[in-house]
Amino acid sequence: MTSSEFRQSLHEFSEWIADYFEETGKYPVISNVKPGDIKNKLPLDPPFSGEPIEEIFRDFEQQILPGITHWQHPSFFAYFPASRSEPSVLAEMLTAALGAQCMVWYTSPAAEELEERMMDWIRDMMGLPQNFSGVIQDSASTATLVSLLTAREKATDFSINSHGFSGQERFRVYASTQAHSSVDKAIRISGIGYDNLIKIPVNENFEMDAGALEKSILRDLEAGYKPLAVVATFGTTSSTAIDPLAEIGRITQKYNIWYHVDAAFGGAALILPEYQQLAKGIEIADTIVFNPHKWLFTNFDCTVYLVKNKEVLINTFSIMPEYLKTPEDRMVNNYRDWGIPLGRRFRALKLWFVIRNYGLLGLQEKLRNHITWANWFAQQVLVSKDFELLAPLSFNLVCFRYHPGGTMKEEQLNEINKTLLTLLNQSGEIFLTHTSLNGKFTLRLVGGNSSVTEDSIKNAWNLISVTARNLNH
Ligand SMILES: *Cc1c(COP(=O)(O)O)cnc(C)c1O
Repeated sequence: MTSSEFRQSLHEFSEWIADYFEETGKYPVISNVKPGDIKNKLPLDPPFSGEPIEEIFRDFEQQILPGITHWQHPSFFAYFPASRSEPSVLAEMLTAALGAQCMVWYTSPAAEELEERMMDWIRDMMGLPQNFSGVIQDSASTATLVSLLTAREKATDFSINSHGFSGQERFRVYASTQAHSSVDKAIRISGIGYDNLIKIPVNENFEMDAGALEKSILRDLEAGYKPLAVVATFGTTSSTAIDPLAEIGRITQKYNIWYHVDAAFGGAALILPEYQQLAKGIEIADTIVFNPHKWLFTNFDCTVYLVKNKEVLINTFSIMPEYLKTPEDRMVNNYRDWGIPLGRRFRALKLWFVIRNYGLLGLQEKLRNHITWANWFAQQVLVSKDFELLAPLSFNLVCFRYHPGGTMKEEQLNEINKTLLTLLNQSGEIFLTHTSLNGKFTLRLVGGNSSVTEDSIKNAWNLISVTARNLNH
C-alpha cells in the first residue's frame, strides 16, 4: 500500500466510523446468521497475491457485518455492556498506529508512566485510599487469577513457584454462590483445585452470608485446612448484589486471610460519591479488580487491578532474564512483572482520552442517567400486576419476569419467560439475556453502553410488556 493509498483509506474509514456511530441503532441488534453462514463465504485458502483495500472493505461490509452483534446499539441490554466512546476509539487509533510493545519502562517510558498516573486517577475517582497502586490487565478473569496466585505464593513464602505443590497445602478459597465463574476458573488454573473452592450461601438479596463464611472457615481450620483467600463481589453478574465488604473484611483480618474484591462491573459506580458508602470495607482488601471496559466508556480491553502490596505481586511474577535487564529497573515500574503476559498493549492512552474528554462530571452524569432510567424501568415492573422484580436494584441492572398471575407453577412461569425472551430477541429490535435466581428464569435488562437513551429504555418497556401480554398461555 502506498502512502497516498493509505491516506485515502484513512479518510474513507473515518467517515465510515463516524457514520457507524450515528447509525448503530439502524442495524438489527443481534445478527440472525446461522452457524457456518459466515465461514462458508470465506475462501478456504489465503490469497496468493495482495488484494486492494477497497475489495477487502467491501467484503467486510457484505460478509462480516451481517455476523456482528451490535454491542453499541441503543437497545443492547444483554450481559453487561462493553464500552465504546468517541475519545476511546480515537485513542485506540493512535495506539494501533504507534504499534508499541509496552512490557517495561524502557520499551516506552510514556506508556508506563501514563499507566501509573491513570491508575492513581482511577483509584482516587473511586474514593479508594492511596495505599493502593494499580496496573492494567487484559480482563477481570486474569486479574482474579493473578490475585489468587499471589495469595498462594505469599502463604507459602514463594515456595510453590520454586518447588511446585508439596501435597500438604490443603488450601481453601471462599466466594459466594453468586460469584463470577472466573473465580472457579482461577481456582483450577492456580492448582488449588476446584474441590477447595467453598461456595458460601447468600441471603434473600443474593449477598454473601458473612456468618456462614466465618462458620465455614472455622470448620475448615478444625479439619486441618488452610483458609487462603476470600473473593467478595461488589456487583454480582446475575443481579449486581453487593457482598457485605466490611463484615467480610473483618473476618479476613481476624483469620489472616487474603482478601480480593471483584468489582468488575460495579466498580464504575464508585466514581459516584453517593455510591461509595455501599463499598464500605473495600479498603481492607488486598486486591481489587474493576473493568473500565464494561461501564466506563473505554474500549475492550481495559481492566484496572489495584493492589496494596506490590512487592508480593512482583515477587510472584518477576522473571529477569539477561535480555530484559535495563539500567532503570530499580527506579521504575516494569509492568511485565505485575501479571502474566510479557507483551503489553498501550491501554492507558484510551483511559487518558476518556477521562479527560468526558471529565469526571461527564462520566458521573452518564452513569447517573443510566441508573435513573433503570429505576424508571423497575418502577414500571413494580406497578404492573403481571410483572415482578426478582432482585433489588443496585445500579442499572433490572432482574424481572412476566407473571400473569393465577395459580401458575414455577416450571410454567419459566417456560413462558423463556418464550418471551426468544420472541424479544428474534424481533431484532432489542437484546436481553437471562439468568436464574432461586431457580426462577430471570430476564436481565442493563443499559450501560454509551448509546443507551431514555427513549431506548422506554421503548424496551413497551416492547416487552406488549409482547408478554400477547403471549398465548
Ligand atoms: C464480567 C465480570 C467478570 C469477568 O470479566 P472479564 O474482564 O471478561 O474477564 C468477572 N467478575 C464479574 C463480577 C463480572 O461481572
